[in-house]
Amino acid sequence: MPEELDPFKISQEQLDDAARLMKLDKQALAILREPMEVLTVNFPVKMRDGTTKTFTGFRSHYNTALGPAKGGIRFHPQENISTIKALSAWMTWKCSLANLPFGGGKGGVICDVKKLNDYELENLTRAYVRAIYKFVGTYTDVMAPDVYTTPQIMGWIVDEYSRLRGHNDFGVVTGKPLEVWGSQGRGDATAMGGLYVLREAAKYKKLNLKTATIAIQGFGNAGNFAFSLSKRLFGSKVVAVSDSSGAIYSRKGLDYDKAVETKKKTGSLQSYPGAEKISNKELLALDVDVLIPAALEDQITKQNADKVNAKILLELANGPVTYDADKILAERKVFDIPDFLVNSGGVTVSYFEWLQNISGYYWHADEVYKRLDTIITRSFNGVMQKQEEYAKKGEKINARMAAYIIAVDRVAKAMKARGWY
Ligand code: NAD
Repeated sequence: MPEELDPFKISQEQLDDAARLMKLDKQALAILREPMEVLTVNFPVKMRDGTTKTFTGFRSHYNTALGPAKGGIRFHPQENISTIKALSAWMTWKCSLANLPFGGGKGGVICDVKKLNDYELENLTRAYVRAIYKFVGTYTDVMAPDVYTTPQIMGWIVDEYSRLRGHNDFGVVTGKPLEVWGSQGRGDATAMGGLYVLREAAKYKKLNLKTATIAIQGFGNAGNFAFSLSKRLFGSKVVAVSDSSGAIYSRKGLDYDKAVETKKKTGSLQSYPGAEKISNKELLALDVDVLIPAALEDQITKQNADKVNAKILLELANGPVTYDADKILAERKVFDIPDFLVNSGGVTVSYFEWLQNISGYYWHADEVYKRLDTIITRSFNGVMQKQEEYAKKGEKINARMAAYIIAVDRVAKAMKARGWY
């Protein structure tokens, strides 16, 4: 049978698996299998050459039982409703697992940012906000950056939204530049949170991170910080790293500054001096202690899941392991820590930003990292405890299912307490 790669169907299958294991009430499951509201908008944008083009955008509120919808905005040529719905479901579970007072949301516009100049990108952003502004808000739906959207774009969003409302409203979007009340620590929050999880996972697996070897797929925001922080926090050896042009490998370990310099000078990592060139596929199969996929979804599939050799698989990207691959990794007892736990540092610091915006009181970076560590460590320990709880009942579940059960249970209980079923 061909592997199911439709993101929304996958999100429903994962939920169904969790519901079966936790014996979730059928009425609750029926509510949770679909998003509560999905908005599609078509809106005109003035281009530099004087013409007007129409773009299509989306925004989904998957579930808001625990609080306002929370989730990023993607600007991508292949954006589609299935991806948006799935990502809004995963945001619901991510916020719930971290015990944040948020539901899940996601938005996007079908566009190719590489083909837009700054004038057009700003016009498109502002036009999208005008099209959806009644659907979002500080206490209803809080937006954030995602694929191909930046802090600058968040700055335009808060400005346009505030103009429409007639007053400044900084809490409607997070991931803003510091000048318009973004949070300290937001830049590396995702990787930092992921590495706090790795620290806990290593204790659990009795792995010494000082001597551990790490391979990282991706050298963007998530992968780049994961590389520098692995060294800074633990002194680990990053032996392989990749970007879209391929991977580089050195058994002795790669130097972060040299990698940054190579990428800056040549646009890719390939000419890093003294490293062996390998493919992205080979990187995923390396014999290392820790493998960190930090690039794209669907990287570990049923074709290569049996080749993963790492002791710990730290899913920093969203959806790097397919539904079928997940089952294979579980059978092979690879310690695979799911994306919506590992990369929840981003949304957790977004929550801090929102809190700072609505209270008007701003924190130092140290406070941000300390609170992030507390929340993400608590989530990790909760997932391990849930796994043990099921093991005692004679049911073996992997970390992803344990995380799902905790997250779904919190949302279901909130819906019950509100009288939704
Ligand atoms: P990014 O666009 O900054 O970086 C993506 C990286 O992937 C780039 O280095 C790119 O060269 C590389 N890449 C592209 N195609 C590749 C391929 N075929 N093989 C290997 N590498 C390839 O994106 P990002 O913000 O670092 O996000 C990466 C992942 O982390 C995504 O799944 C994203 O959803 C997830 N994530 C990011 C954040 C965040 O705060 N940045 C938060 C949560 C989740």
